[in-house]
Amino acid sequence: MEVFDVTIVGGGPAGLYSAFYSGMRDLKTKIIEFHPYLGGKVNIFLEKMLWDIGGQPPIVAEKFIGQLIEQAMTFEPTVCLNTKVEHIEKQDDVFVISTNNGEKHYSKTVIIAIGGGIFQPIKLEIEGAEKYEMTNLHYTINGIERFAGKDILISGGGNAAIDWAVELLPIAKKLTVIYRSDELKAHEAQVKKLKEHQVEILLNTEIQSLVSNDEKTAIEHVVIREGDVDKSVTVDDIIICHGYNREVSLDFAQGILPKRNDNQLFESEGQCQTTTPGIFAVGDIVAYSDKVYLLVGTFNDAVLAVNSAKKYLEPDANSYAMVSSHNEKFRDRNQKILVDMK
Ligand SMILES: Cc1cc2nc3c(=O)[nH]c(=O)nc-3n(C[C@H](O)[C@H](O)[C@H](O)COP(=O)(O)OP(=O)(O)OC[C@H]3O[C@@H](n4cnc5c(N)ncnc54)[C@H](O)[C@@H]3O)c2cc1C
Repeated sequence: MEVFDVTIVGGGPAGLYSAFYSGMRDLKTKIIEFHPYLGGKVNIFLEKMLWDIGGQPPIVAEKFIGQLIEQAMTFEPTVCLNTKVEHIEKQDDVFVISTNNGEKHYSKTVIIAIGGGIFQPIKLEIEGAEKYEMTNLHYTINGIERFAGKDILISGGGNAAIDWAVELLPIAKKLTVIYRSDELKAHEAQVKKLKEHQVEILLNTEIQSLVSNDEKTAIEHVVIREGDVDKSVTVDDIIICHGYNREVSLDFAQGILPKRNDNQLFESEGQCQTTTPGIFAVGDIVAYSDKVYLLVGTFNDAVLAVNSAKKYLEPDANSYAMVSSHNEKFRDRNQKILVDMK
């Protein structure tokens, strides 16, 4: 049985930075992530520009998350994707972490970095719709360029739907927004922008069926129902923004149950320690006075939690890692970087 010093549950920004910092502190580290990819909920706004990260000029979220992943891999943590942590218990001094695929993981400490939980887009309830996800039915947007010059139908009236519509305005050939309710729910300013551009907005309208091309590979047109009237819309691409299902369940054995507040967030006892010794919580899932629920806040939490884990494992260890300019771990790497720069 391979026992890790630190196992991080969740591979979003908080988990990724915890993995990096854990390596800085010489801890044998594992990340367990439900999705087949890392990055957490940044994956739902990949095309957005991020402006509010210290020292980082405006950056597209997709690039930012790529950098965060690269940094997290600096000390080669073990990464388990497609794996959902379901239950954590303690046997002697080791936490036993059980997952949905029947595997068990063993760790001396656990950092919970599950953020808002597992986000999965709410899918269209139309039989056979999933086969078009490989072609022109989208629940998220990876690369806005593919929509240039296209006839696009967006279904949804919340912020995500309207934000995407505004982003696509300059490049789409034609944009149609449909929404099942009688009023768009997105920010007023964004809705105003859409209306100024005379985008076709159909309220009280829902998708009824998808009609494929002759090869049955892609959707050729969509039948929508506006009030009581059905009509057919020819499309190149459909973007569905019907929100996300969120699952935050994480089960703990009796006796190691970290305390949660009314919002189900883990209460920090200070330094991102939960009420259970050896279990720490970081990012959007932890609560403490003055907590910042932003990317910068996740980095601060990661440092606090990893340093707490280090002290838990080695009470005589320094309270925090040597700053990178004085850190021996980077000496050889720095030299290589300097040589490559020449
Ligand atoms: C639309 C939107 C825009 C935003 N814009 C900004 C911005 O401009 N600037 C900014 O600073 N912040 C922004 N944020 C906030 C920022 O995204 C979050 O603060 C940050 O993602 C929190 O990171 P996290 O790692 O705590 O959680 P998450 O990003 O939620 O990651 C948690 C990870 O844990 C995984 N997980 C959950 N449960 C399990 C389990 N049981 N087993 C295994 N894995 C599990 C999930 O799949 C997920 O990958 C935005 C958020 C949203 C929703």
